[in-house]
Amino acid sequence: MTSHFITKRHEDLRAQVRAFAEAEVVPRIPEMEASKEVQHKLARLIAQQGWFGVTIGTGYGGMGAGHLARVLIIEGLSRYSAAAGGIAQASILGDAKILHWANSQQKKKWLPEIAEGRCLPTIAVTEHGSGGHVLGMETTAKRRRGGWVLNGRKCYVGNSHVGDVHGVVVRTGRGNRSRDLSCFLVQADTPGLSLAPHKPAIGMHGFSFGELIFDNCVVPDENLLGEEGDGRDIADSSSVLYGRLNLAAVALGLHRAAYEETVAFCNDRQRYGSDLGDLAVVNARMGEMRHRLETSRTAVYEAAHMLDTGQECDVKLMSAKYGAVQSGIHSAWDAMRTYGAAGLFSNHSIERIWRDLPCIEPPAGTSDVQLHRLGQKSRRTKYEPWSSRLAHLLTAA
Ligand SMILES: Cc1cc2nc3c(=O)[nH]c(=O)nc-3n(C[C@H](O)[C@H](O)[C@H](O)COP(=O)(O)OP(=O)(O)OC[C@H]3O[C@@H](n4cnc5c(N)ncnc54)[C@H](O)[C@@H]3O)c2cc1C
Repeated sequence: MTSHFITKRHEDLRAQVRAFAEAEVVPRIPEMEASKEVQHKLARLIAQQGWFGVTIGTGYGGMGAGHLARVLIIEGLSRYSAAAGGIAQASILGDAKILHWANSQQKKKWLPEIAEGRCLPTIAVTEHGSGGHVLGMETTAKRRRGGWVLNGRKCYVGNSHVGDVHGVVVRTGRGNRSRDLSCFLVQADTPGLSLAPHKPAIGMHGFSFGELIFDNCVVPDENLLGEEGDGRDIADSSSVLYGRLNLAAVALGLHRAAYEETVAFCNDRQRYGSDLGDLAVVNARMGEMRHRLETSRTAVYEAAHMLDTGQECDVKLMSAKYGAVQSGIHSAWDAMRTYGAAGLFSNHSIERIWRDLPCIEPPAGTSDVQLHRLGQKSRRTKYEPWSSRLAHLLTAA
């Protein structure tokens, strides 16, 4: 299965990711599932491939390979392990704020480090008390001479426990206006920043999306990203332009895994003297899975291609994330039905895939939020899409 957006360079990258996943990710999966511990070593290994620099320009030592290449890396890893794909997506998401909002000194300092795999960036926006309502956040940064003092907690931060530099969006104003939020780069070893103990979730075992705790954590002025008051725009643009597509790519990889594993199972299992897949109802279900996979892949690749070519595509990005997640979850259910009782046990990877897929629903906007935003975009004409506002930076790689 391929697409007319895929070039020879993309094909080579796909093969490289597949070879890495088979050699370095697949052998780790039993231990990841059994221990549910954060995979520090795997995160470093993925970083060392240079893939976190996929959209960083070659001038900063990045791959300069663009957004469809970003999708192929994340999808390719997620085909084997949502945790591996999650690690890649969370740090590639962390690139966006630096690429789009950093000044030239900050870019010179951080982008080569990330591109070379020595630094894993994250973005920390969510709080228990606000969730998707970003303006409801309570973590604050207060001015003091030469810097800022951060207090509060961030939760569900992708790569929380392996990240080296967190892009932390906090409240710098008192009100409920977009300009009351700002974003700071906070190095993981800054005094006053600590991590809550890792809590494994239902799925994505090995990936950390935990809590950062700020207790009088002091950062210098030079760590402010963009201008004071840009925090909401930094969070939104990162989520729309990078988060939506990254999570869609994780869902796509998992969807492909569900489909391919189920086809193999149907060809292998014998019932009524024939292949399980020969049963009309099972065959039709396979057809449905294939259809959903093909349509979500087309939507995700098209949105990535539009970013690569500087086209306005915010709606396509939201729609691709919504569709990839919903259809992936639907197919995972169909896969489980096809496996019967066998699917309930961990000797089949379908059980893991079925647990991993719902983890992709909340980040970068839940499915409800995608629909809410898509509805708003349909009615409001004044909105200036992030893909247009930042087009000059999205195609610059
Ligand atoms: C695997 C994973 C990785 C993550 N990575 C990051 C990260 O890197 N950085 C980070 O900051 N956060 C991250 N998150 C957090 C994620 O962004 C939040 O989970 C998300 O914003 C939703 O917040 P919430 O879970 O508190 O749900 P809530 O916002 O409390 O939502 C509760 C319910 O209300 C619905 N709802 C909320 N708002 C609306 C609306 N406007 N319209 C319609 N329905 C609505 C939701 O769909 C949901 O059903 C991650 C989460 C996960 C699971």
